[in-house]
Amino acid sequence: MSDSTKIFETKFLVLGSGMGGMAAGSLLARDGLKPVVLEAAHVPGGCSSSYKRKGYIFESGATTLIGFDEKQPLWKLEKELGIDLPKKELLPSMAVHIDGEPIIRYKDRDEWIKEAGRVFGNPEQQRKFWKEAFKVADVVWGASGKNVFFPPRKPHEWLRMAVNNNPVHLPVLRHAFRSVQSTMKSYKVDTPKFRRFIDEQLMITAQAKSPETPFLFGAPAITYTNYRNFYVNGGLLEMVRVLENYLTERGGEVKCRRKVVSVEALSGTGYRVKTANGEEYLAEHVISNIPSWNLKDMTDPWMRTWFKKQSDRFSEAWGAITMGVVTSDEYADDLPLHHQLHLPEGKTVPFTNSESVFVSMSMRGDHTRAPEGKRVLNVSTHANTKTWFEMNGSYDQNKAAAEEFILDHLNKTLPGFSESEFVLAHTATPVTWQNWVYRKEGRVGGIPQQMSRSLLDWTPAETPFKGFWLCGDTVYPGQGIPAVTLSGINVYYRIKHDLNF
Ligand SMILES: Cc1cc2nc3c(=O)[nH]c(=O)nc-3n(C[C@H](O)[C@H](O)[C@H](O)COP(=O)(O)OP(=O)(O)OC[C@H]3O[C@@H](n4cnc5c(N)ncnc54)[C@H](O)[C@@H]3O)c2cc1C
Repeated sequence: MSDSTKIFETKFLVLGSGMGGMAAGSLLARDGLKPVVLEAAHVPGGCSSSYKRKGYIFESGATTLIGFDEKQPLWKLEKELGIDLPKKELLPSMAVHIDGEPIIRYKDRDEWIKEAGRVFGNPEQQRKFWKEAFKVADVVWGASGKNVFFPPRKPHEWLRMAVNNNPVHLPVLRHAFRSVQSTMKSYKVDTPKFRRFIDEQLMITAQAKSPETPFLFGAPAITYTNYRNFYVNGGLLEMVRVLENYLTERGGEVKCRRKVVSVEALSGTGYRVKTANGEEYLAEHVISNIPSWNLKDMTDPWMRTWFKKQSDRFSEAWGAITMGVVTSDEYADDLPLHHQLHLPEGKTVPFTNSESVFVSMSMRGDHTRAPEGKRVLNVSTHANTKTWFEMNGSYDQNKAAAEEFILDHLNKTLPGFSESEFVLAHTATPVTWQNWVYRKEGRVGGIPQQMSRSLLDWTPAETPFKGFWLCGDTVYPGQGIPAVTLSGINVYYRIKHDLNF
């Protein structure tokens, strides 16, 4: 230890200020436990944050915000903290564009079923399929909120599960062993056009396609537009700032520009956490919101073996190519803010195997993000991370090719884009993402929800290391703002139970 090392002591230390860490930290702050949050970046929020460039505000990753319906994770967080997070409801939630045909994802369930019947034919079977999807999704949302100790490990956790859950819902569990595709087949809706639609919709939240995704997770994924969907004025960072203020007003701290470089278990209890700027934190409890893939490179040898095992088991995950684009505002008044633009059949974005592009626009009138007459567009598509890390000399050229392809696709398929004047664009690849949110190999969006992984096989919030806890999108229940918020709520409840406060 050098003379200049600053040492801080705290009972609760949160590593990373994504929505997982911020949810856990805010709840601890609510209880007067004054957590300290260490964040490597200069602002909090990670993949649900915002950044400013050339006077415009872009979203860092996430753009669509759900989870505020009754009993859902952000609803629960608001209720527990007694706050209202800033948000404006969007109607309709999204438009999907396949071969020039817009498909409107109405929130109203009956309206959506009618739209699905119109577009994909076989309206009666479509109705039955979607009714089943809504039923399963509602049960999954209800059950996930009630089972804070999931996946259960200890006898009392199994017992709580048995007591907390309605046996009437048990048959839904069979959908953990049935893929979305086989459910589509059994409802006689598995046409090539519908499969193409469902596969790309699944990629948004489940990160896997219909043959690999269990219907249990697939149902909430394909129906997410049928729950209330929100926009945050000024960008998602504004939502995170509310949590940051809540936490700091109660004596906690969110310390940015504190990149954690090592975590060491102390011989008695607690942990020593070192940051790149030469600080040391001694904490009894550490809640890590840093992906488990990263933890194996920063934990001491004793802990590393376990984290290596966890991350090796689930090392397949997507990266993203994202673009921030600004244009003049020639878009129709009733144009939805979110669009999934399918590529022509058989085509993929260069140097990815992605078959669609997702676009989210700033709301007209949100002048914190763009001045009158301009709109900001966040564009994203899935990318294989390894491909981008192994390009060496051709990286810049390949990045330019992907960017050109995406802009051309927007020109051809996003209504109003070609009529609007192009102002600027910048592109991020998995390489950029690794430097940006410090996620190993730029893997974002958590672990794909595949059949190959049993429901009980998720990395739990509690580790074998006493006082070292996990949350975030590499931990149950996975990726997306509602899921990581739930992981933060769950880890708080585990700690509360363990410490009996
Ligand atoms: C392009 C894209 C689009 C998406 N779209 C949506 C969407 O529309 N809706 C939705 O719900 N979800 C979306 N997601 C997924 C969602 O954003 C993430 O699953 C979620 O935000 C992850 O939250 P987290 O708390 O697990 O991790 P993160 O947000 O990654 O937070 C982890 C934090 O830890 C920090 N950190 C990492 N290493 C260190 C270190 N060594 N020291 C200190 N701090 C560190 C990071 O800087 C980061 O702030 C999208 C993701 C991407 C990438």
